[in-house]
Amino acid sequence: MDKPAAKDKPSRNQAPGSGAKAAPRKRAPRIPYTKAEIEEIFRRFSIQRPEPKGELAHVNPFTLVVAVALSAQATDAGVNKATKELFKVADTPQKMLALGEEKVRDYIRTIGLYRNKAKNVIALSRKLVDDFGGEVPKTREELVTLPGVGRKTANVVMSMAFGIPTLAVDTHIFRIGNRLRLAPGKTPDEVEERFMRIIPDHWLYHAHHWLILHGRYCCKARKPECERCVIADLCKSKEKTTDIPAPLVELPQQVIG
Ligand code: SF4
Repeated sequence: MDKPAAKDKPSRNQAPGSGAKAAPRKRAPRIPYTKAEIEEIFRRFSIQRPEPKGELAHVNPFTLVVAVALSAQATDAGVNKATKELFKVADTPQKMLALGEEKVRDYIRTIGLYRNKAKNVIALSRKLVDDFGGEVPKTREELVTLPGVGRKTANVVMSMAFGIPTLAVDTHIFRIGNRLRLAPGKTPDEVEERFMRIIPDHWLYHAHHWLILHGRYCCKARKPECERCVIADLCKSKEKTTDIPAPLVELPQQVIG
């Protein structure tokens, strides 16, 4: 029998090259899953969605940072519509600065909170030029120094632009961590840390997309659709309504946003 898997795994949550020592951490709670069960959950997700993709359109790391910063409280589709024209004229921080805040605002007018976001796009472009030679930095510590870039945005950028595995905890991942008791936590940071301990390395790169899509389309907030769930036999949620897993087949590509 496998032992429960939640313990003592070193965190991969520290950005490479940061050089910082990991802070002493609290002991994670035991979770009711074995290593083999966790492996099987992600194996099934990988069959359902072999190539999950983020749908934020971008042409380089800079435009990804801008797109992610714009996507707070907006859909990916809405952001893509606005950035399509913006990125044609400004795909580097230098060009964004040359364009200026007012014009940026015009391009992104259809996105919620656009005034503030335009300000941030200009401020983050200036910071990239002044402090990072116009290049997007690769570590979380550096990324979060950019205006409008929080931990979640930094995670998405590290993962999508540089292939550094991270887990950006959104509302779906937070719910799944707690509902399934896979990565219980009171805050997104706690859930992130616990997921990072238990997700096997070889599944980590796609894990955040799988979890978001599972939450969005199956393990829904108000009422999980357990009869459509491929991990219903493994799930230890008190809310689940069946133990019989749905057939494991590849799904059509679904959009995050
Ligand atoms: S069985 Fe139900 S509660 Fe468990 S993961 Fe699937 S949809 Fe969510």
